[in-house]
Amino acid sequence: MPLVMGLTSYKGANMIKNPEPYLITAGGKIRCRRCKAQSSRTKAQCKNPALKSKAVCKWHGGLSTGPKTKEGKERIRAAHYKHGEETQEAKAQRSEKSAMFRYLTDLGNHCNLFYKGIKPLGRPPSQYAKLDLNDPEELALAILKTLPRK
Ligand SMILES: [Zn+2]
Repeated sequence: MPLVMGLTSYKGANMIKNPEPYLITAGGKIRCRRCKAQSSRTKAQCKNPALKSKAVCKWHGGLSTGPKTKEGKERIRAAHYKHGEETQEAKAQRSEKSAMFRYLTDLGNHCNLFYKGIKPLGRPPSQYAKLDLNDPEELALAILKTLPRK
């Protein structure tokens, strides 16, 4: 992005009026353009060097903020896709199976199917709701929830 004089804001960072254009660093050996953003706390000009061909430093919006178009976002998503174990569908499927197992455990405990009774570990899955299995309607509902979908 070319330098724009009189810019008041750049990606959320406020720009200072009458900025110091250059920064001299490394004991006077390096002269570079200075970030033109204004500190929100001290209201002074940022003391970092600006990025190449940008008006601001990397903390004030000089770095890329990622793709904006739908195609660009989709391309990034496809590039990060590795095995699909943590997709929303996989997580929902895992949660459903976990809830099904929890209902099966409840039914087994209710019918004294196990020697001592099984106490499930961990927090209950989000799709699970504790049912009163002495109520016939809720018992039927629990049995229905153990059936596989499709
Ligand atoms: Zn800055």
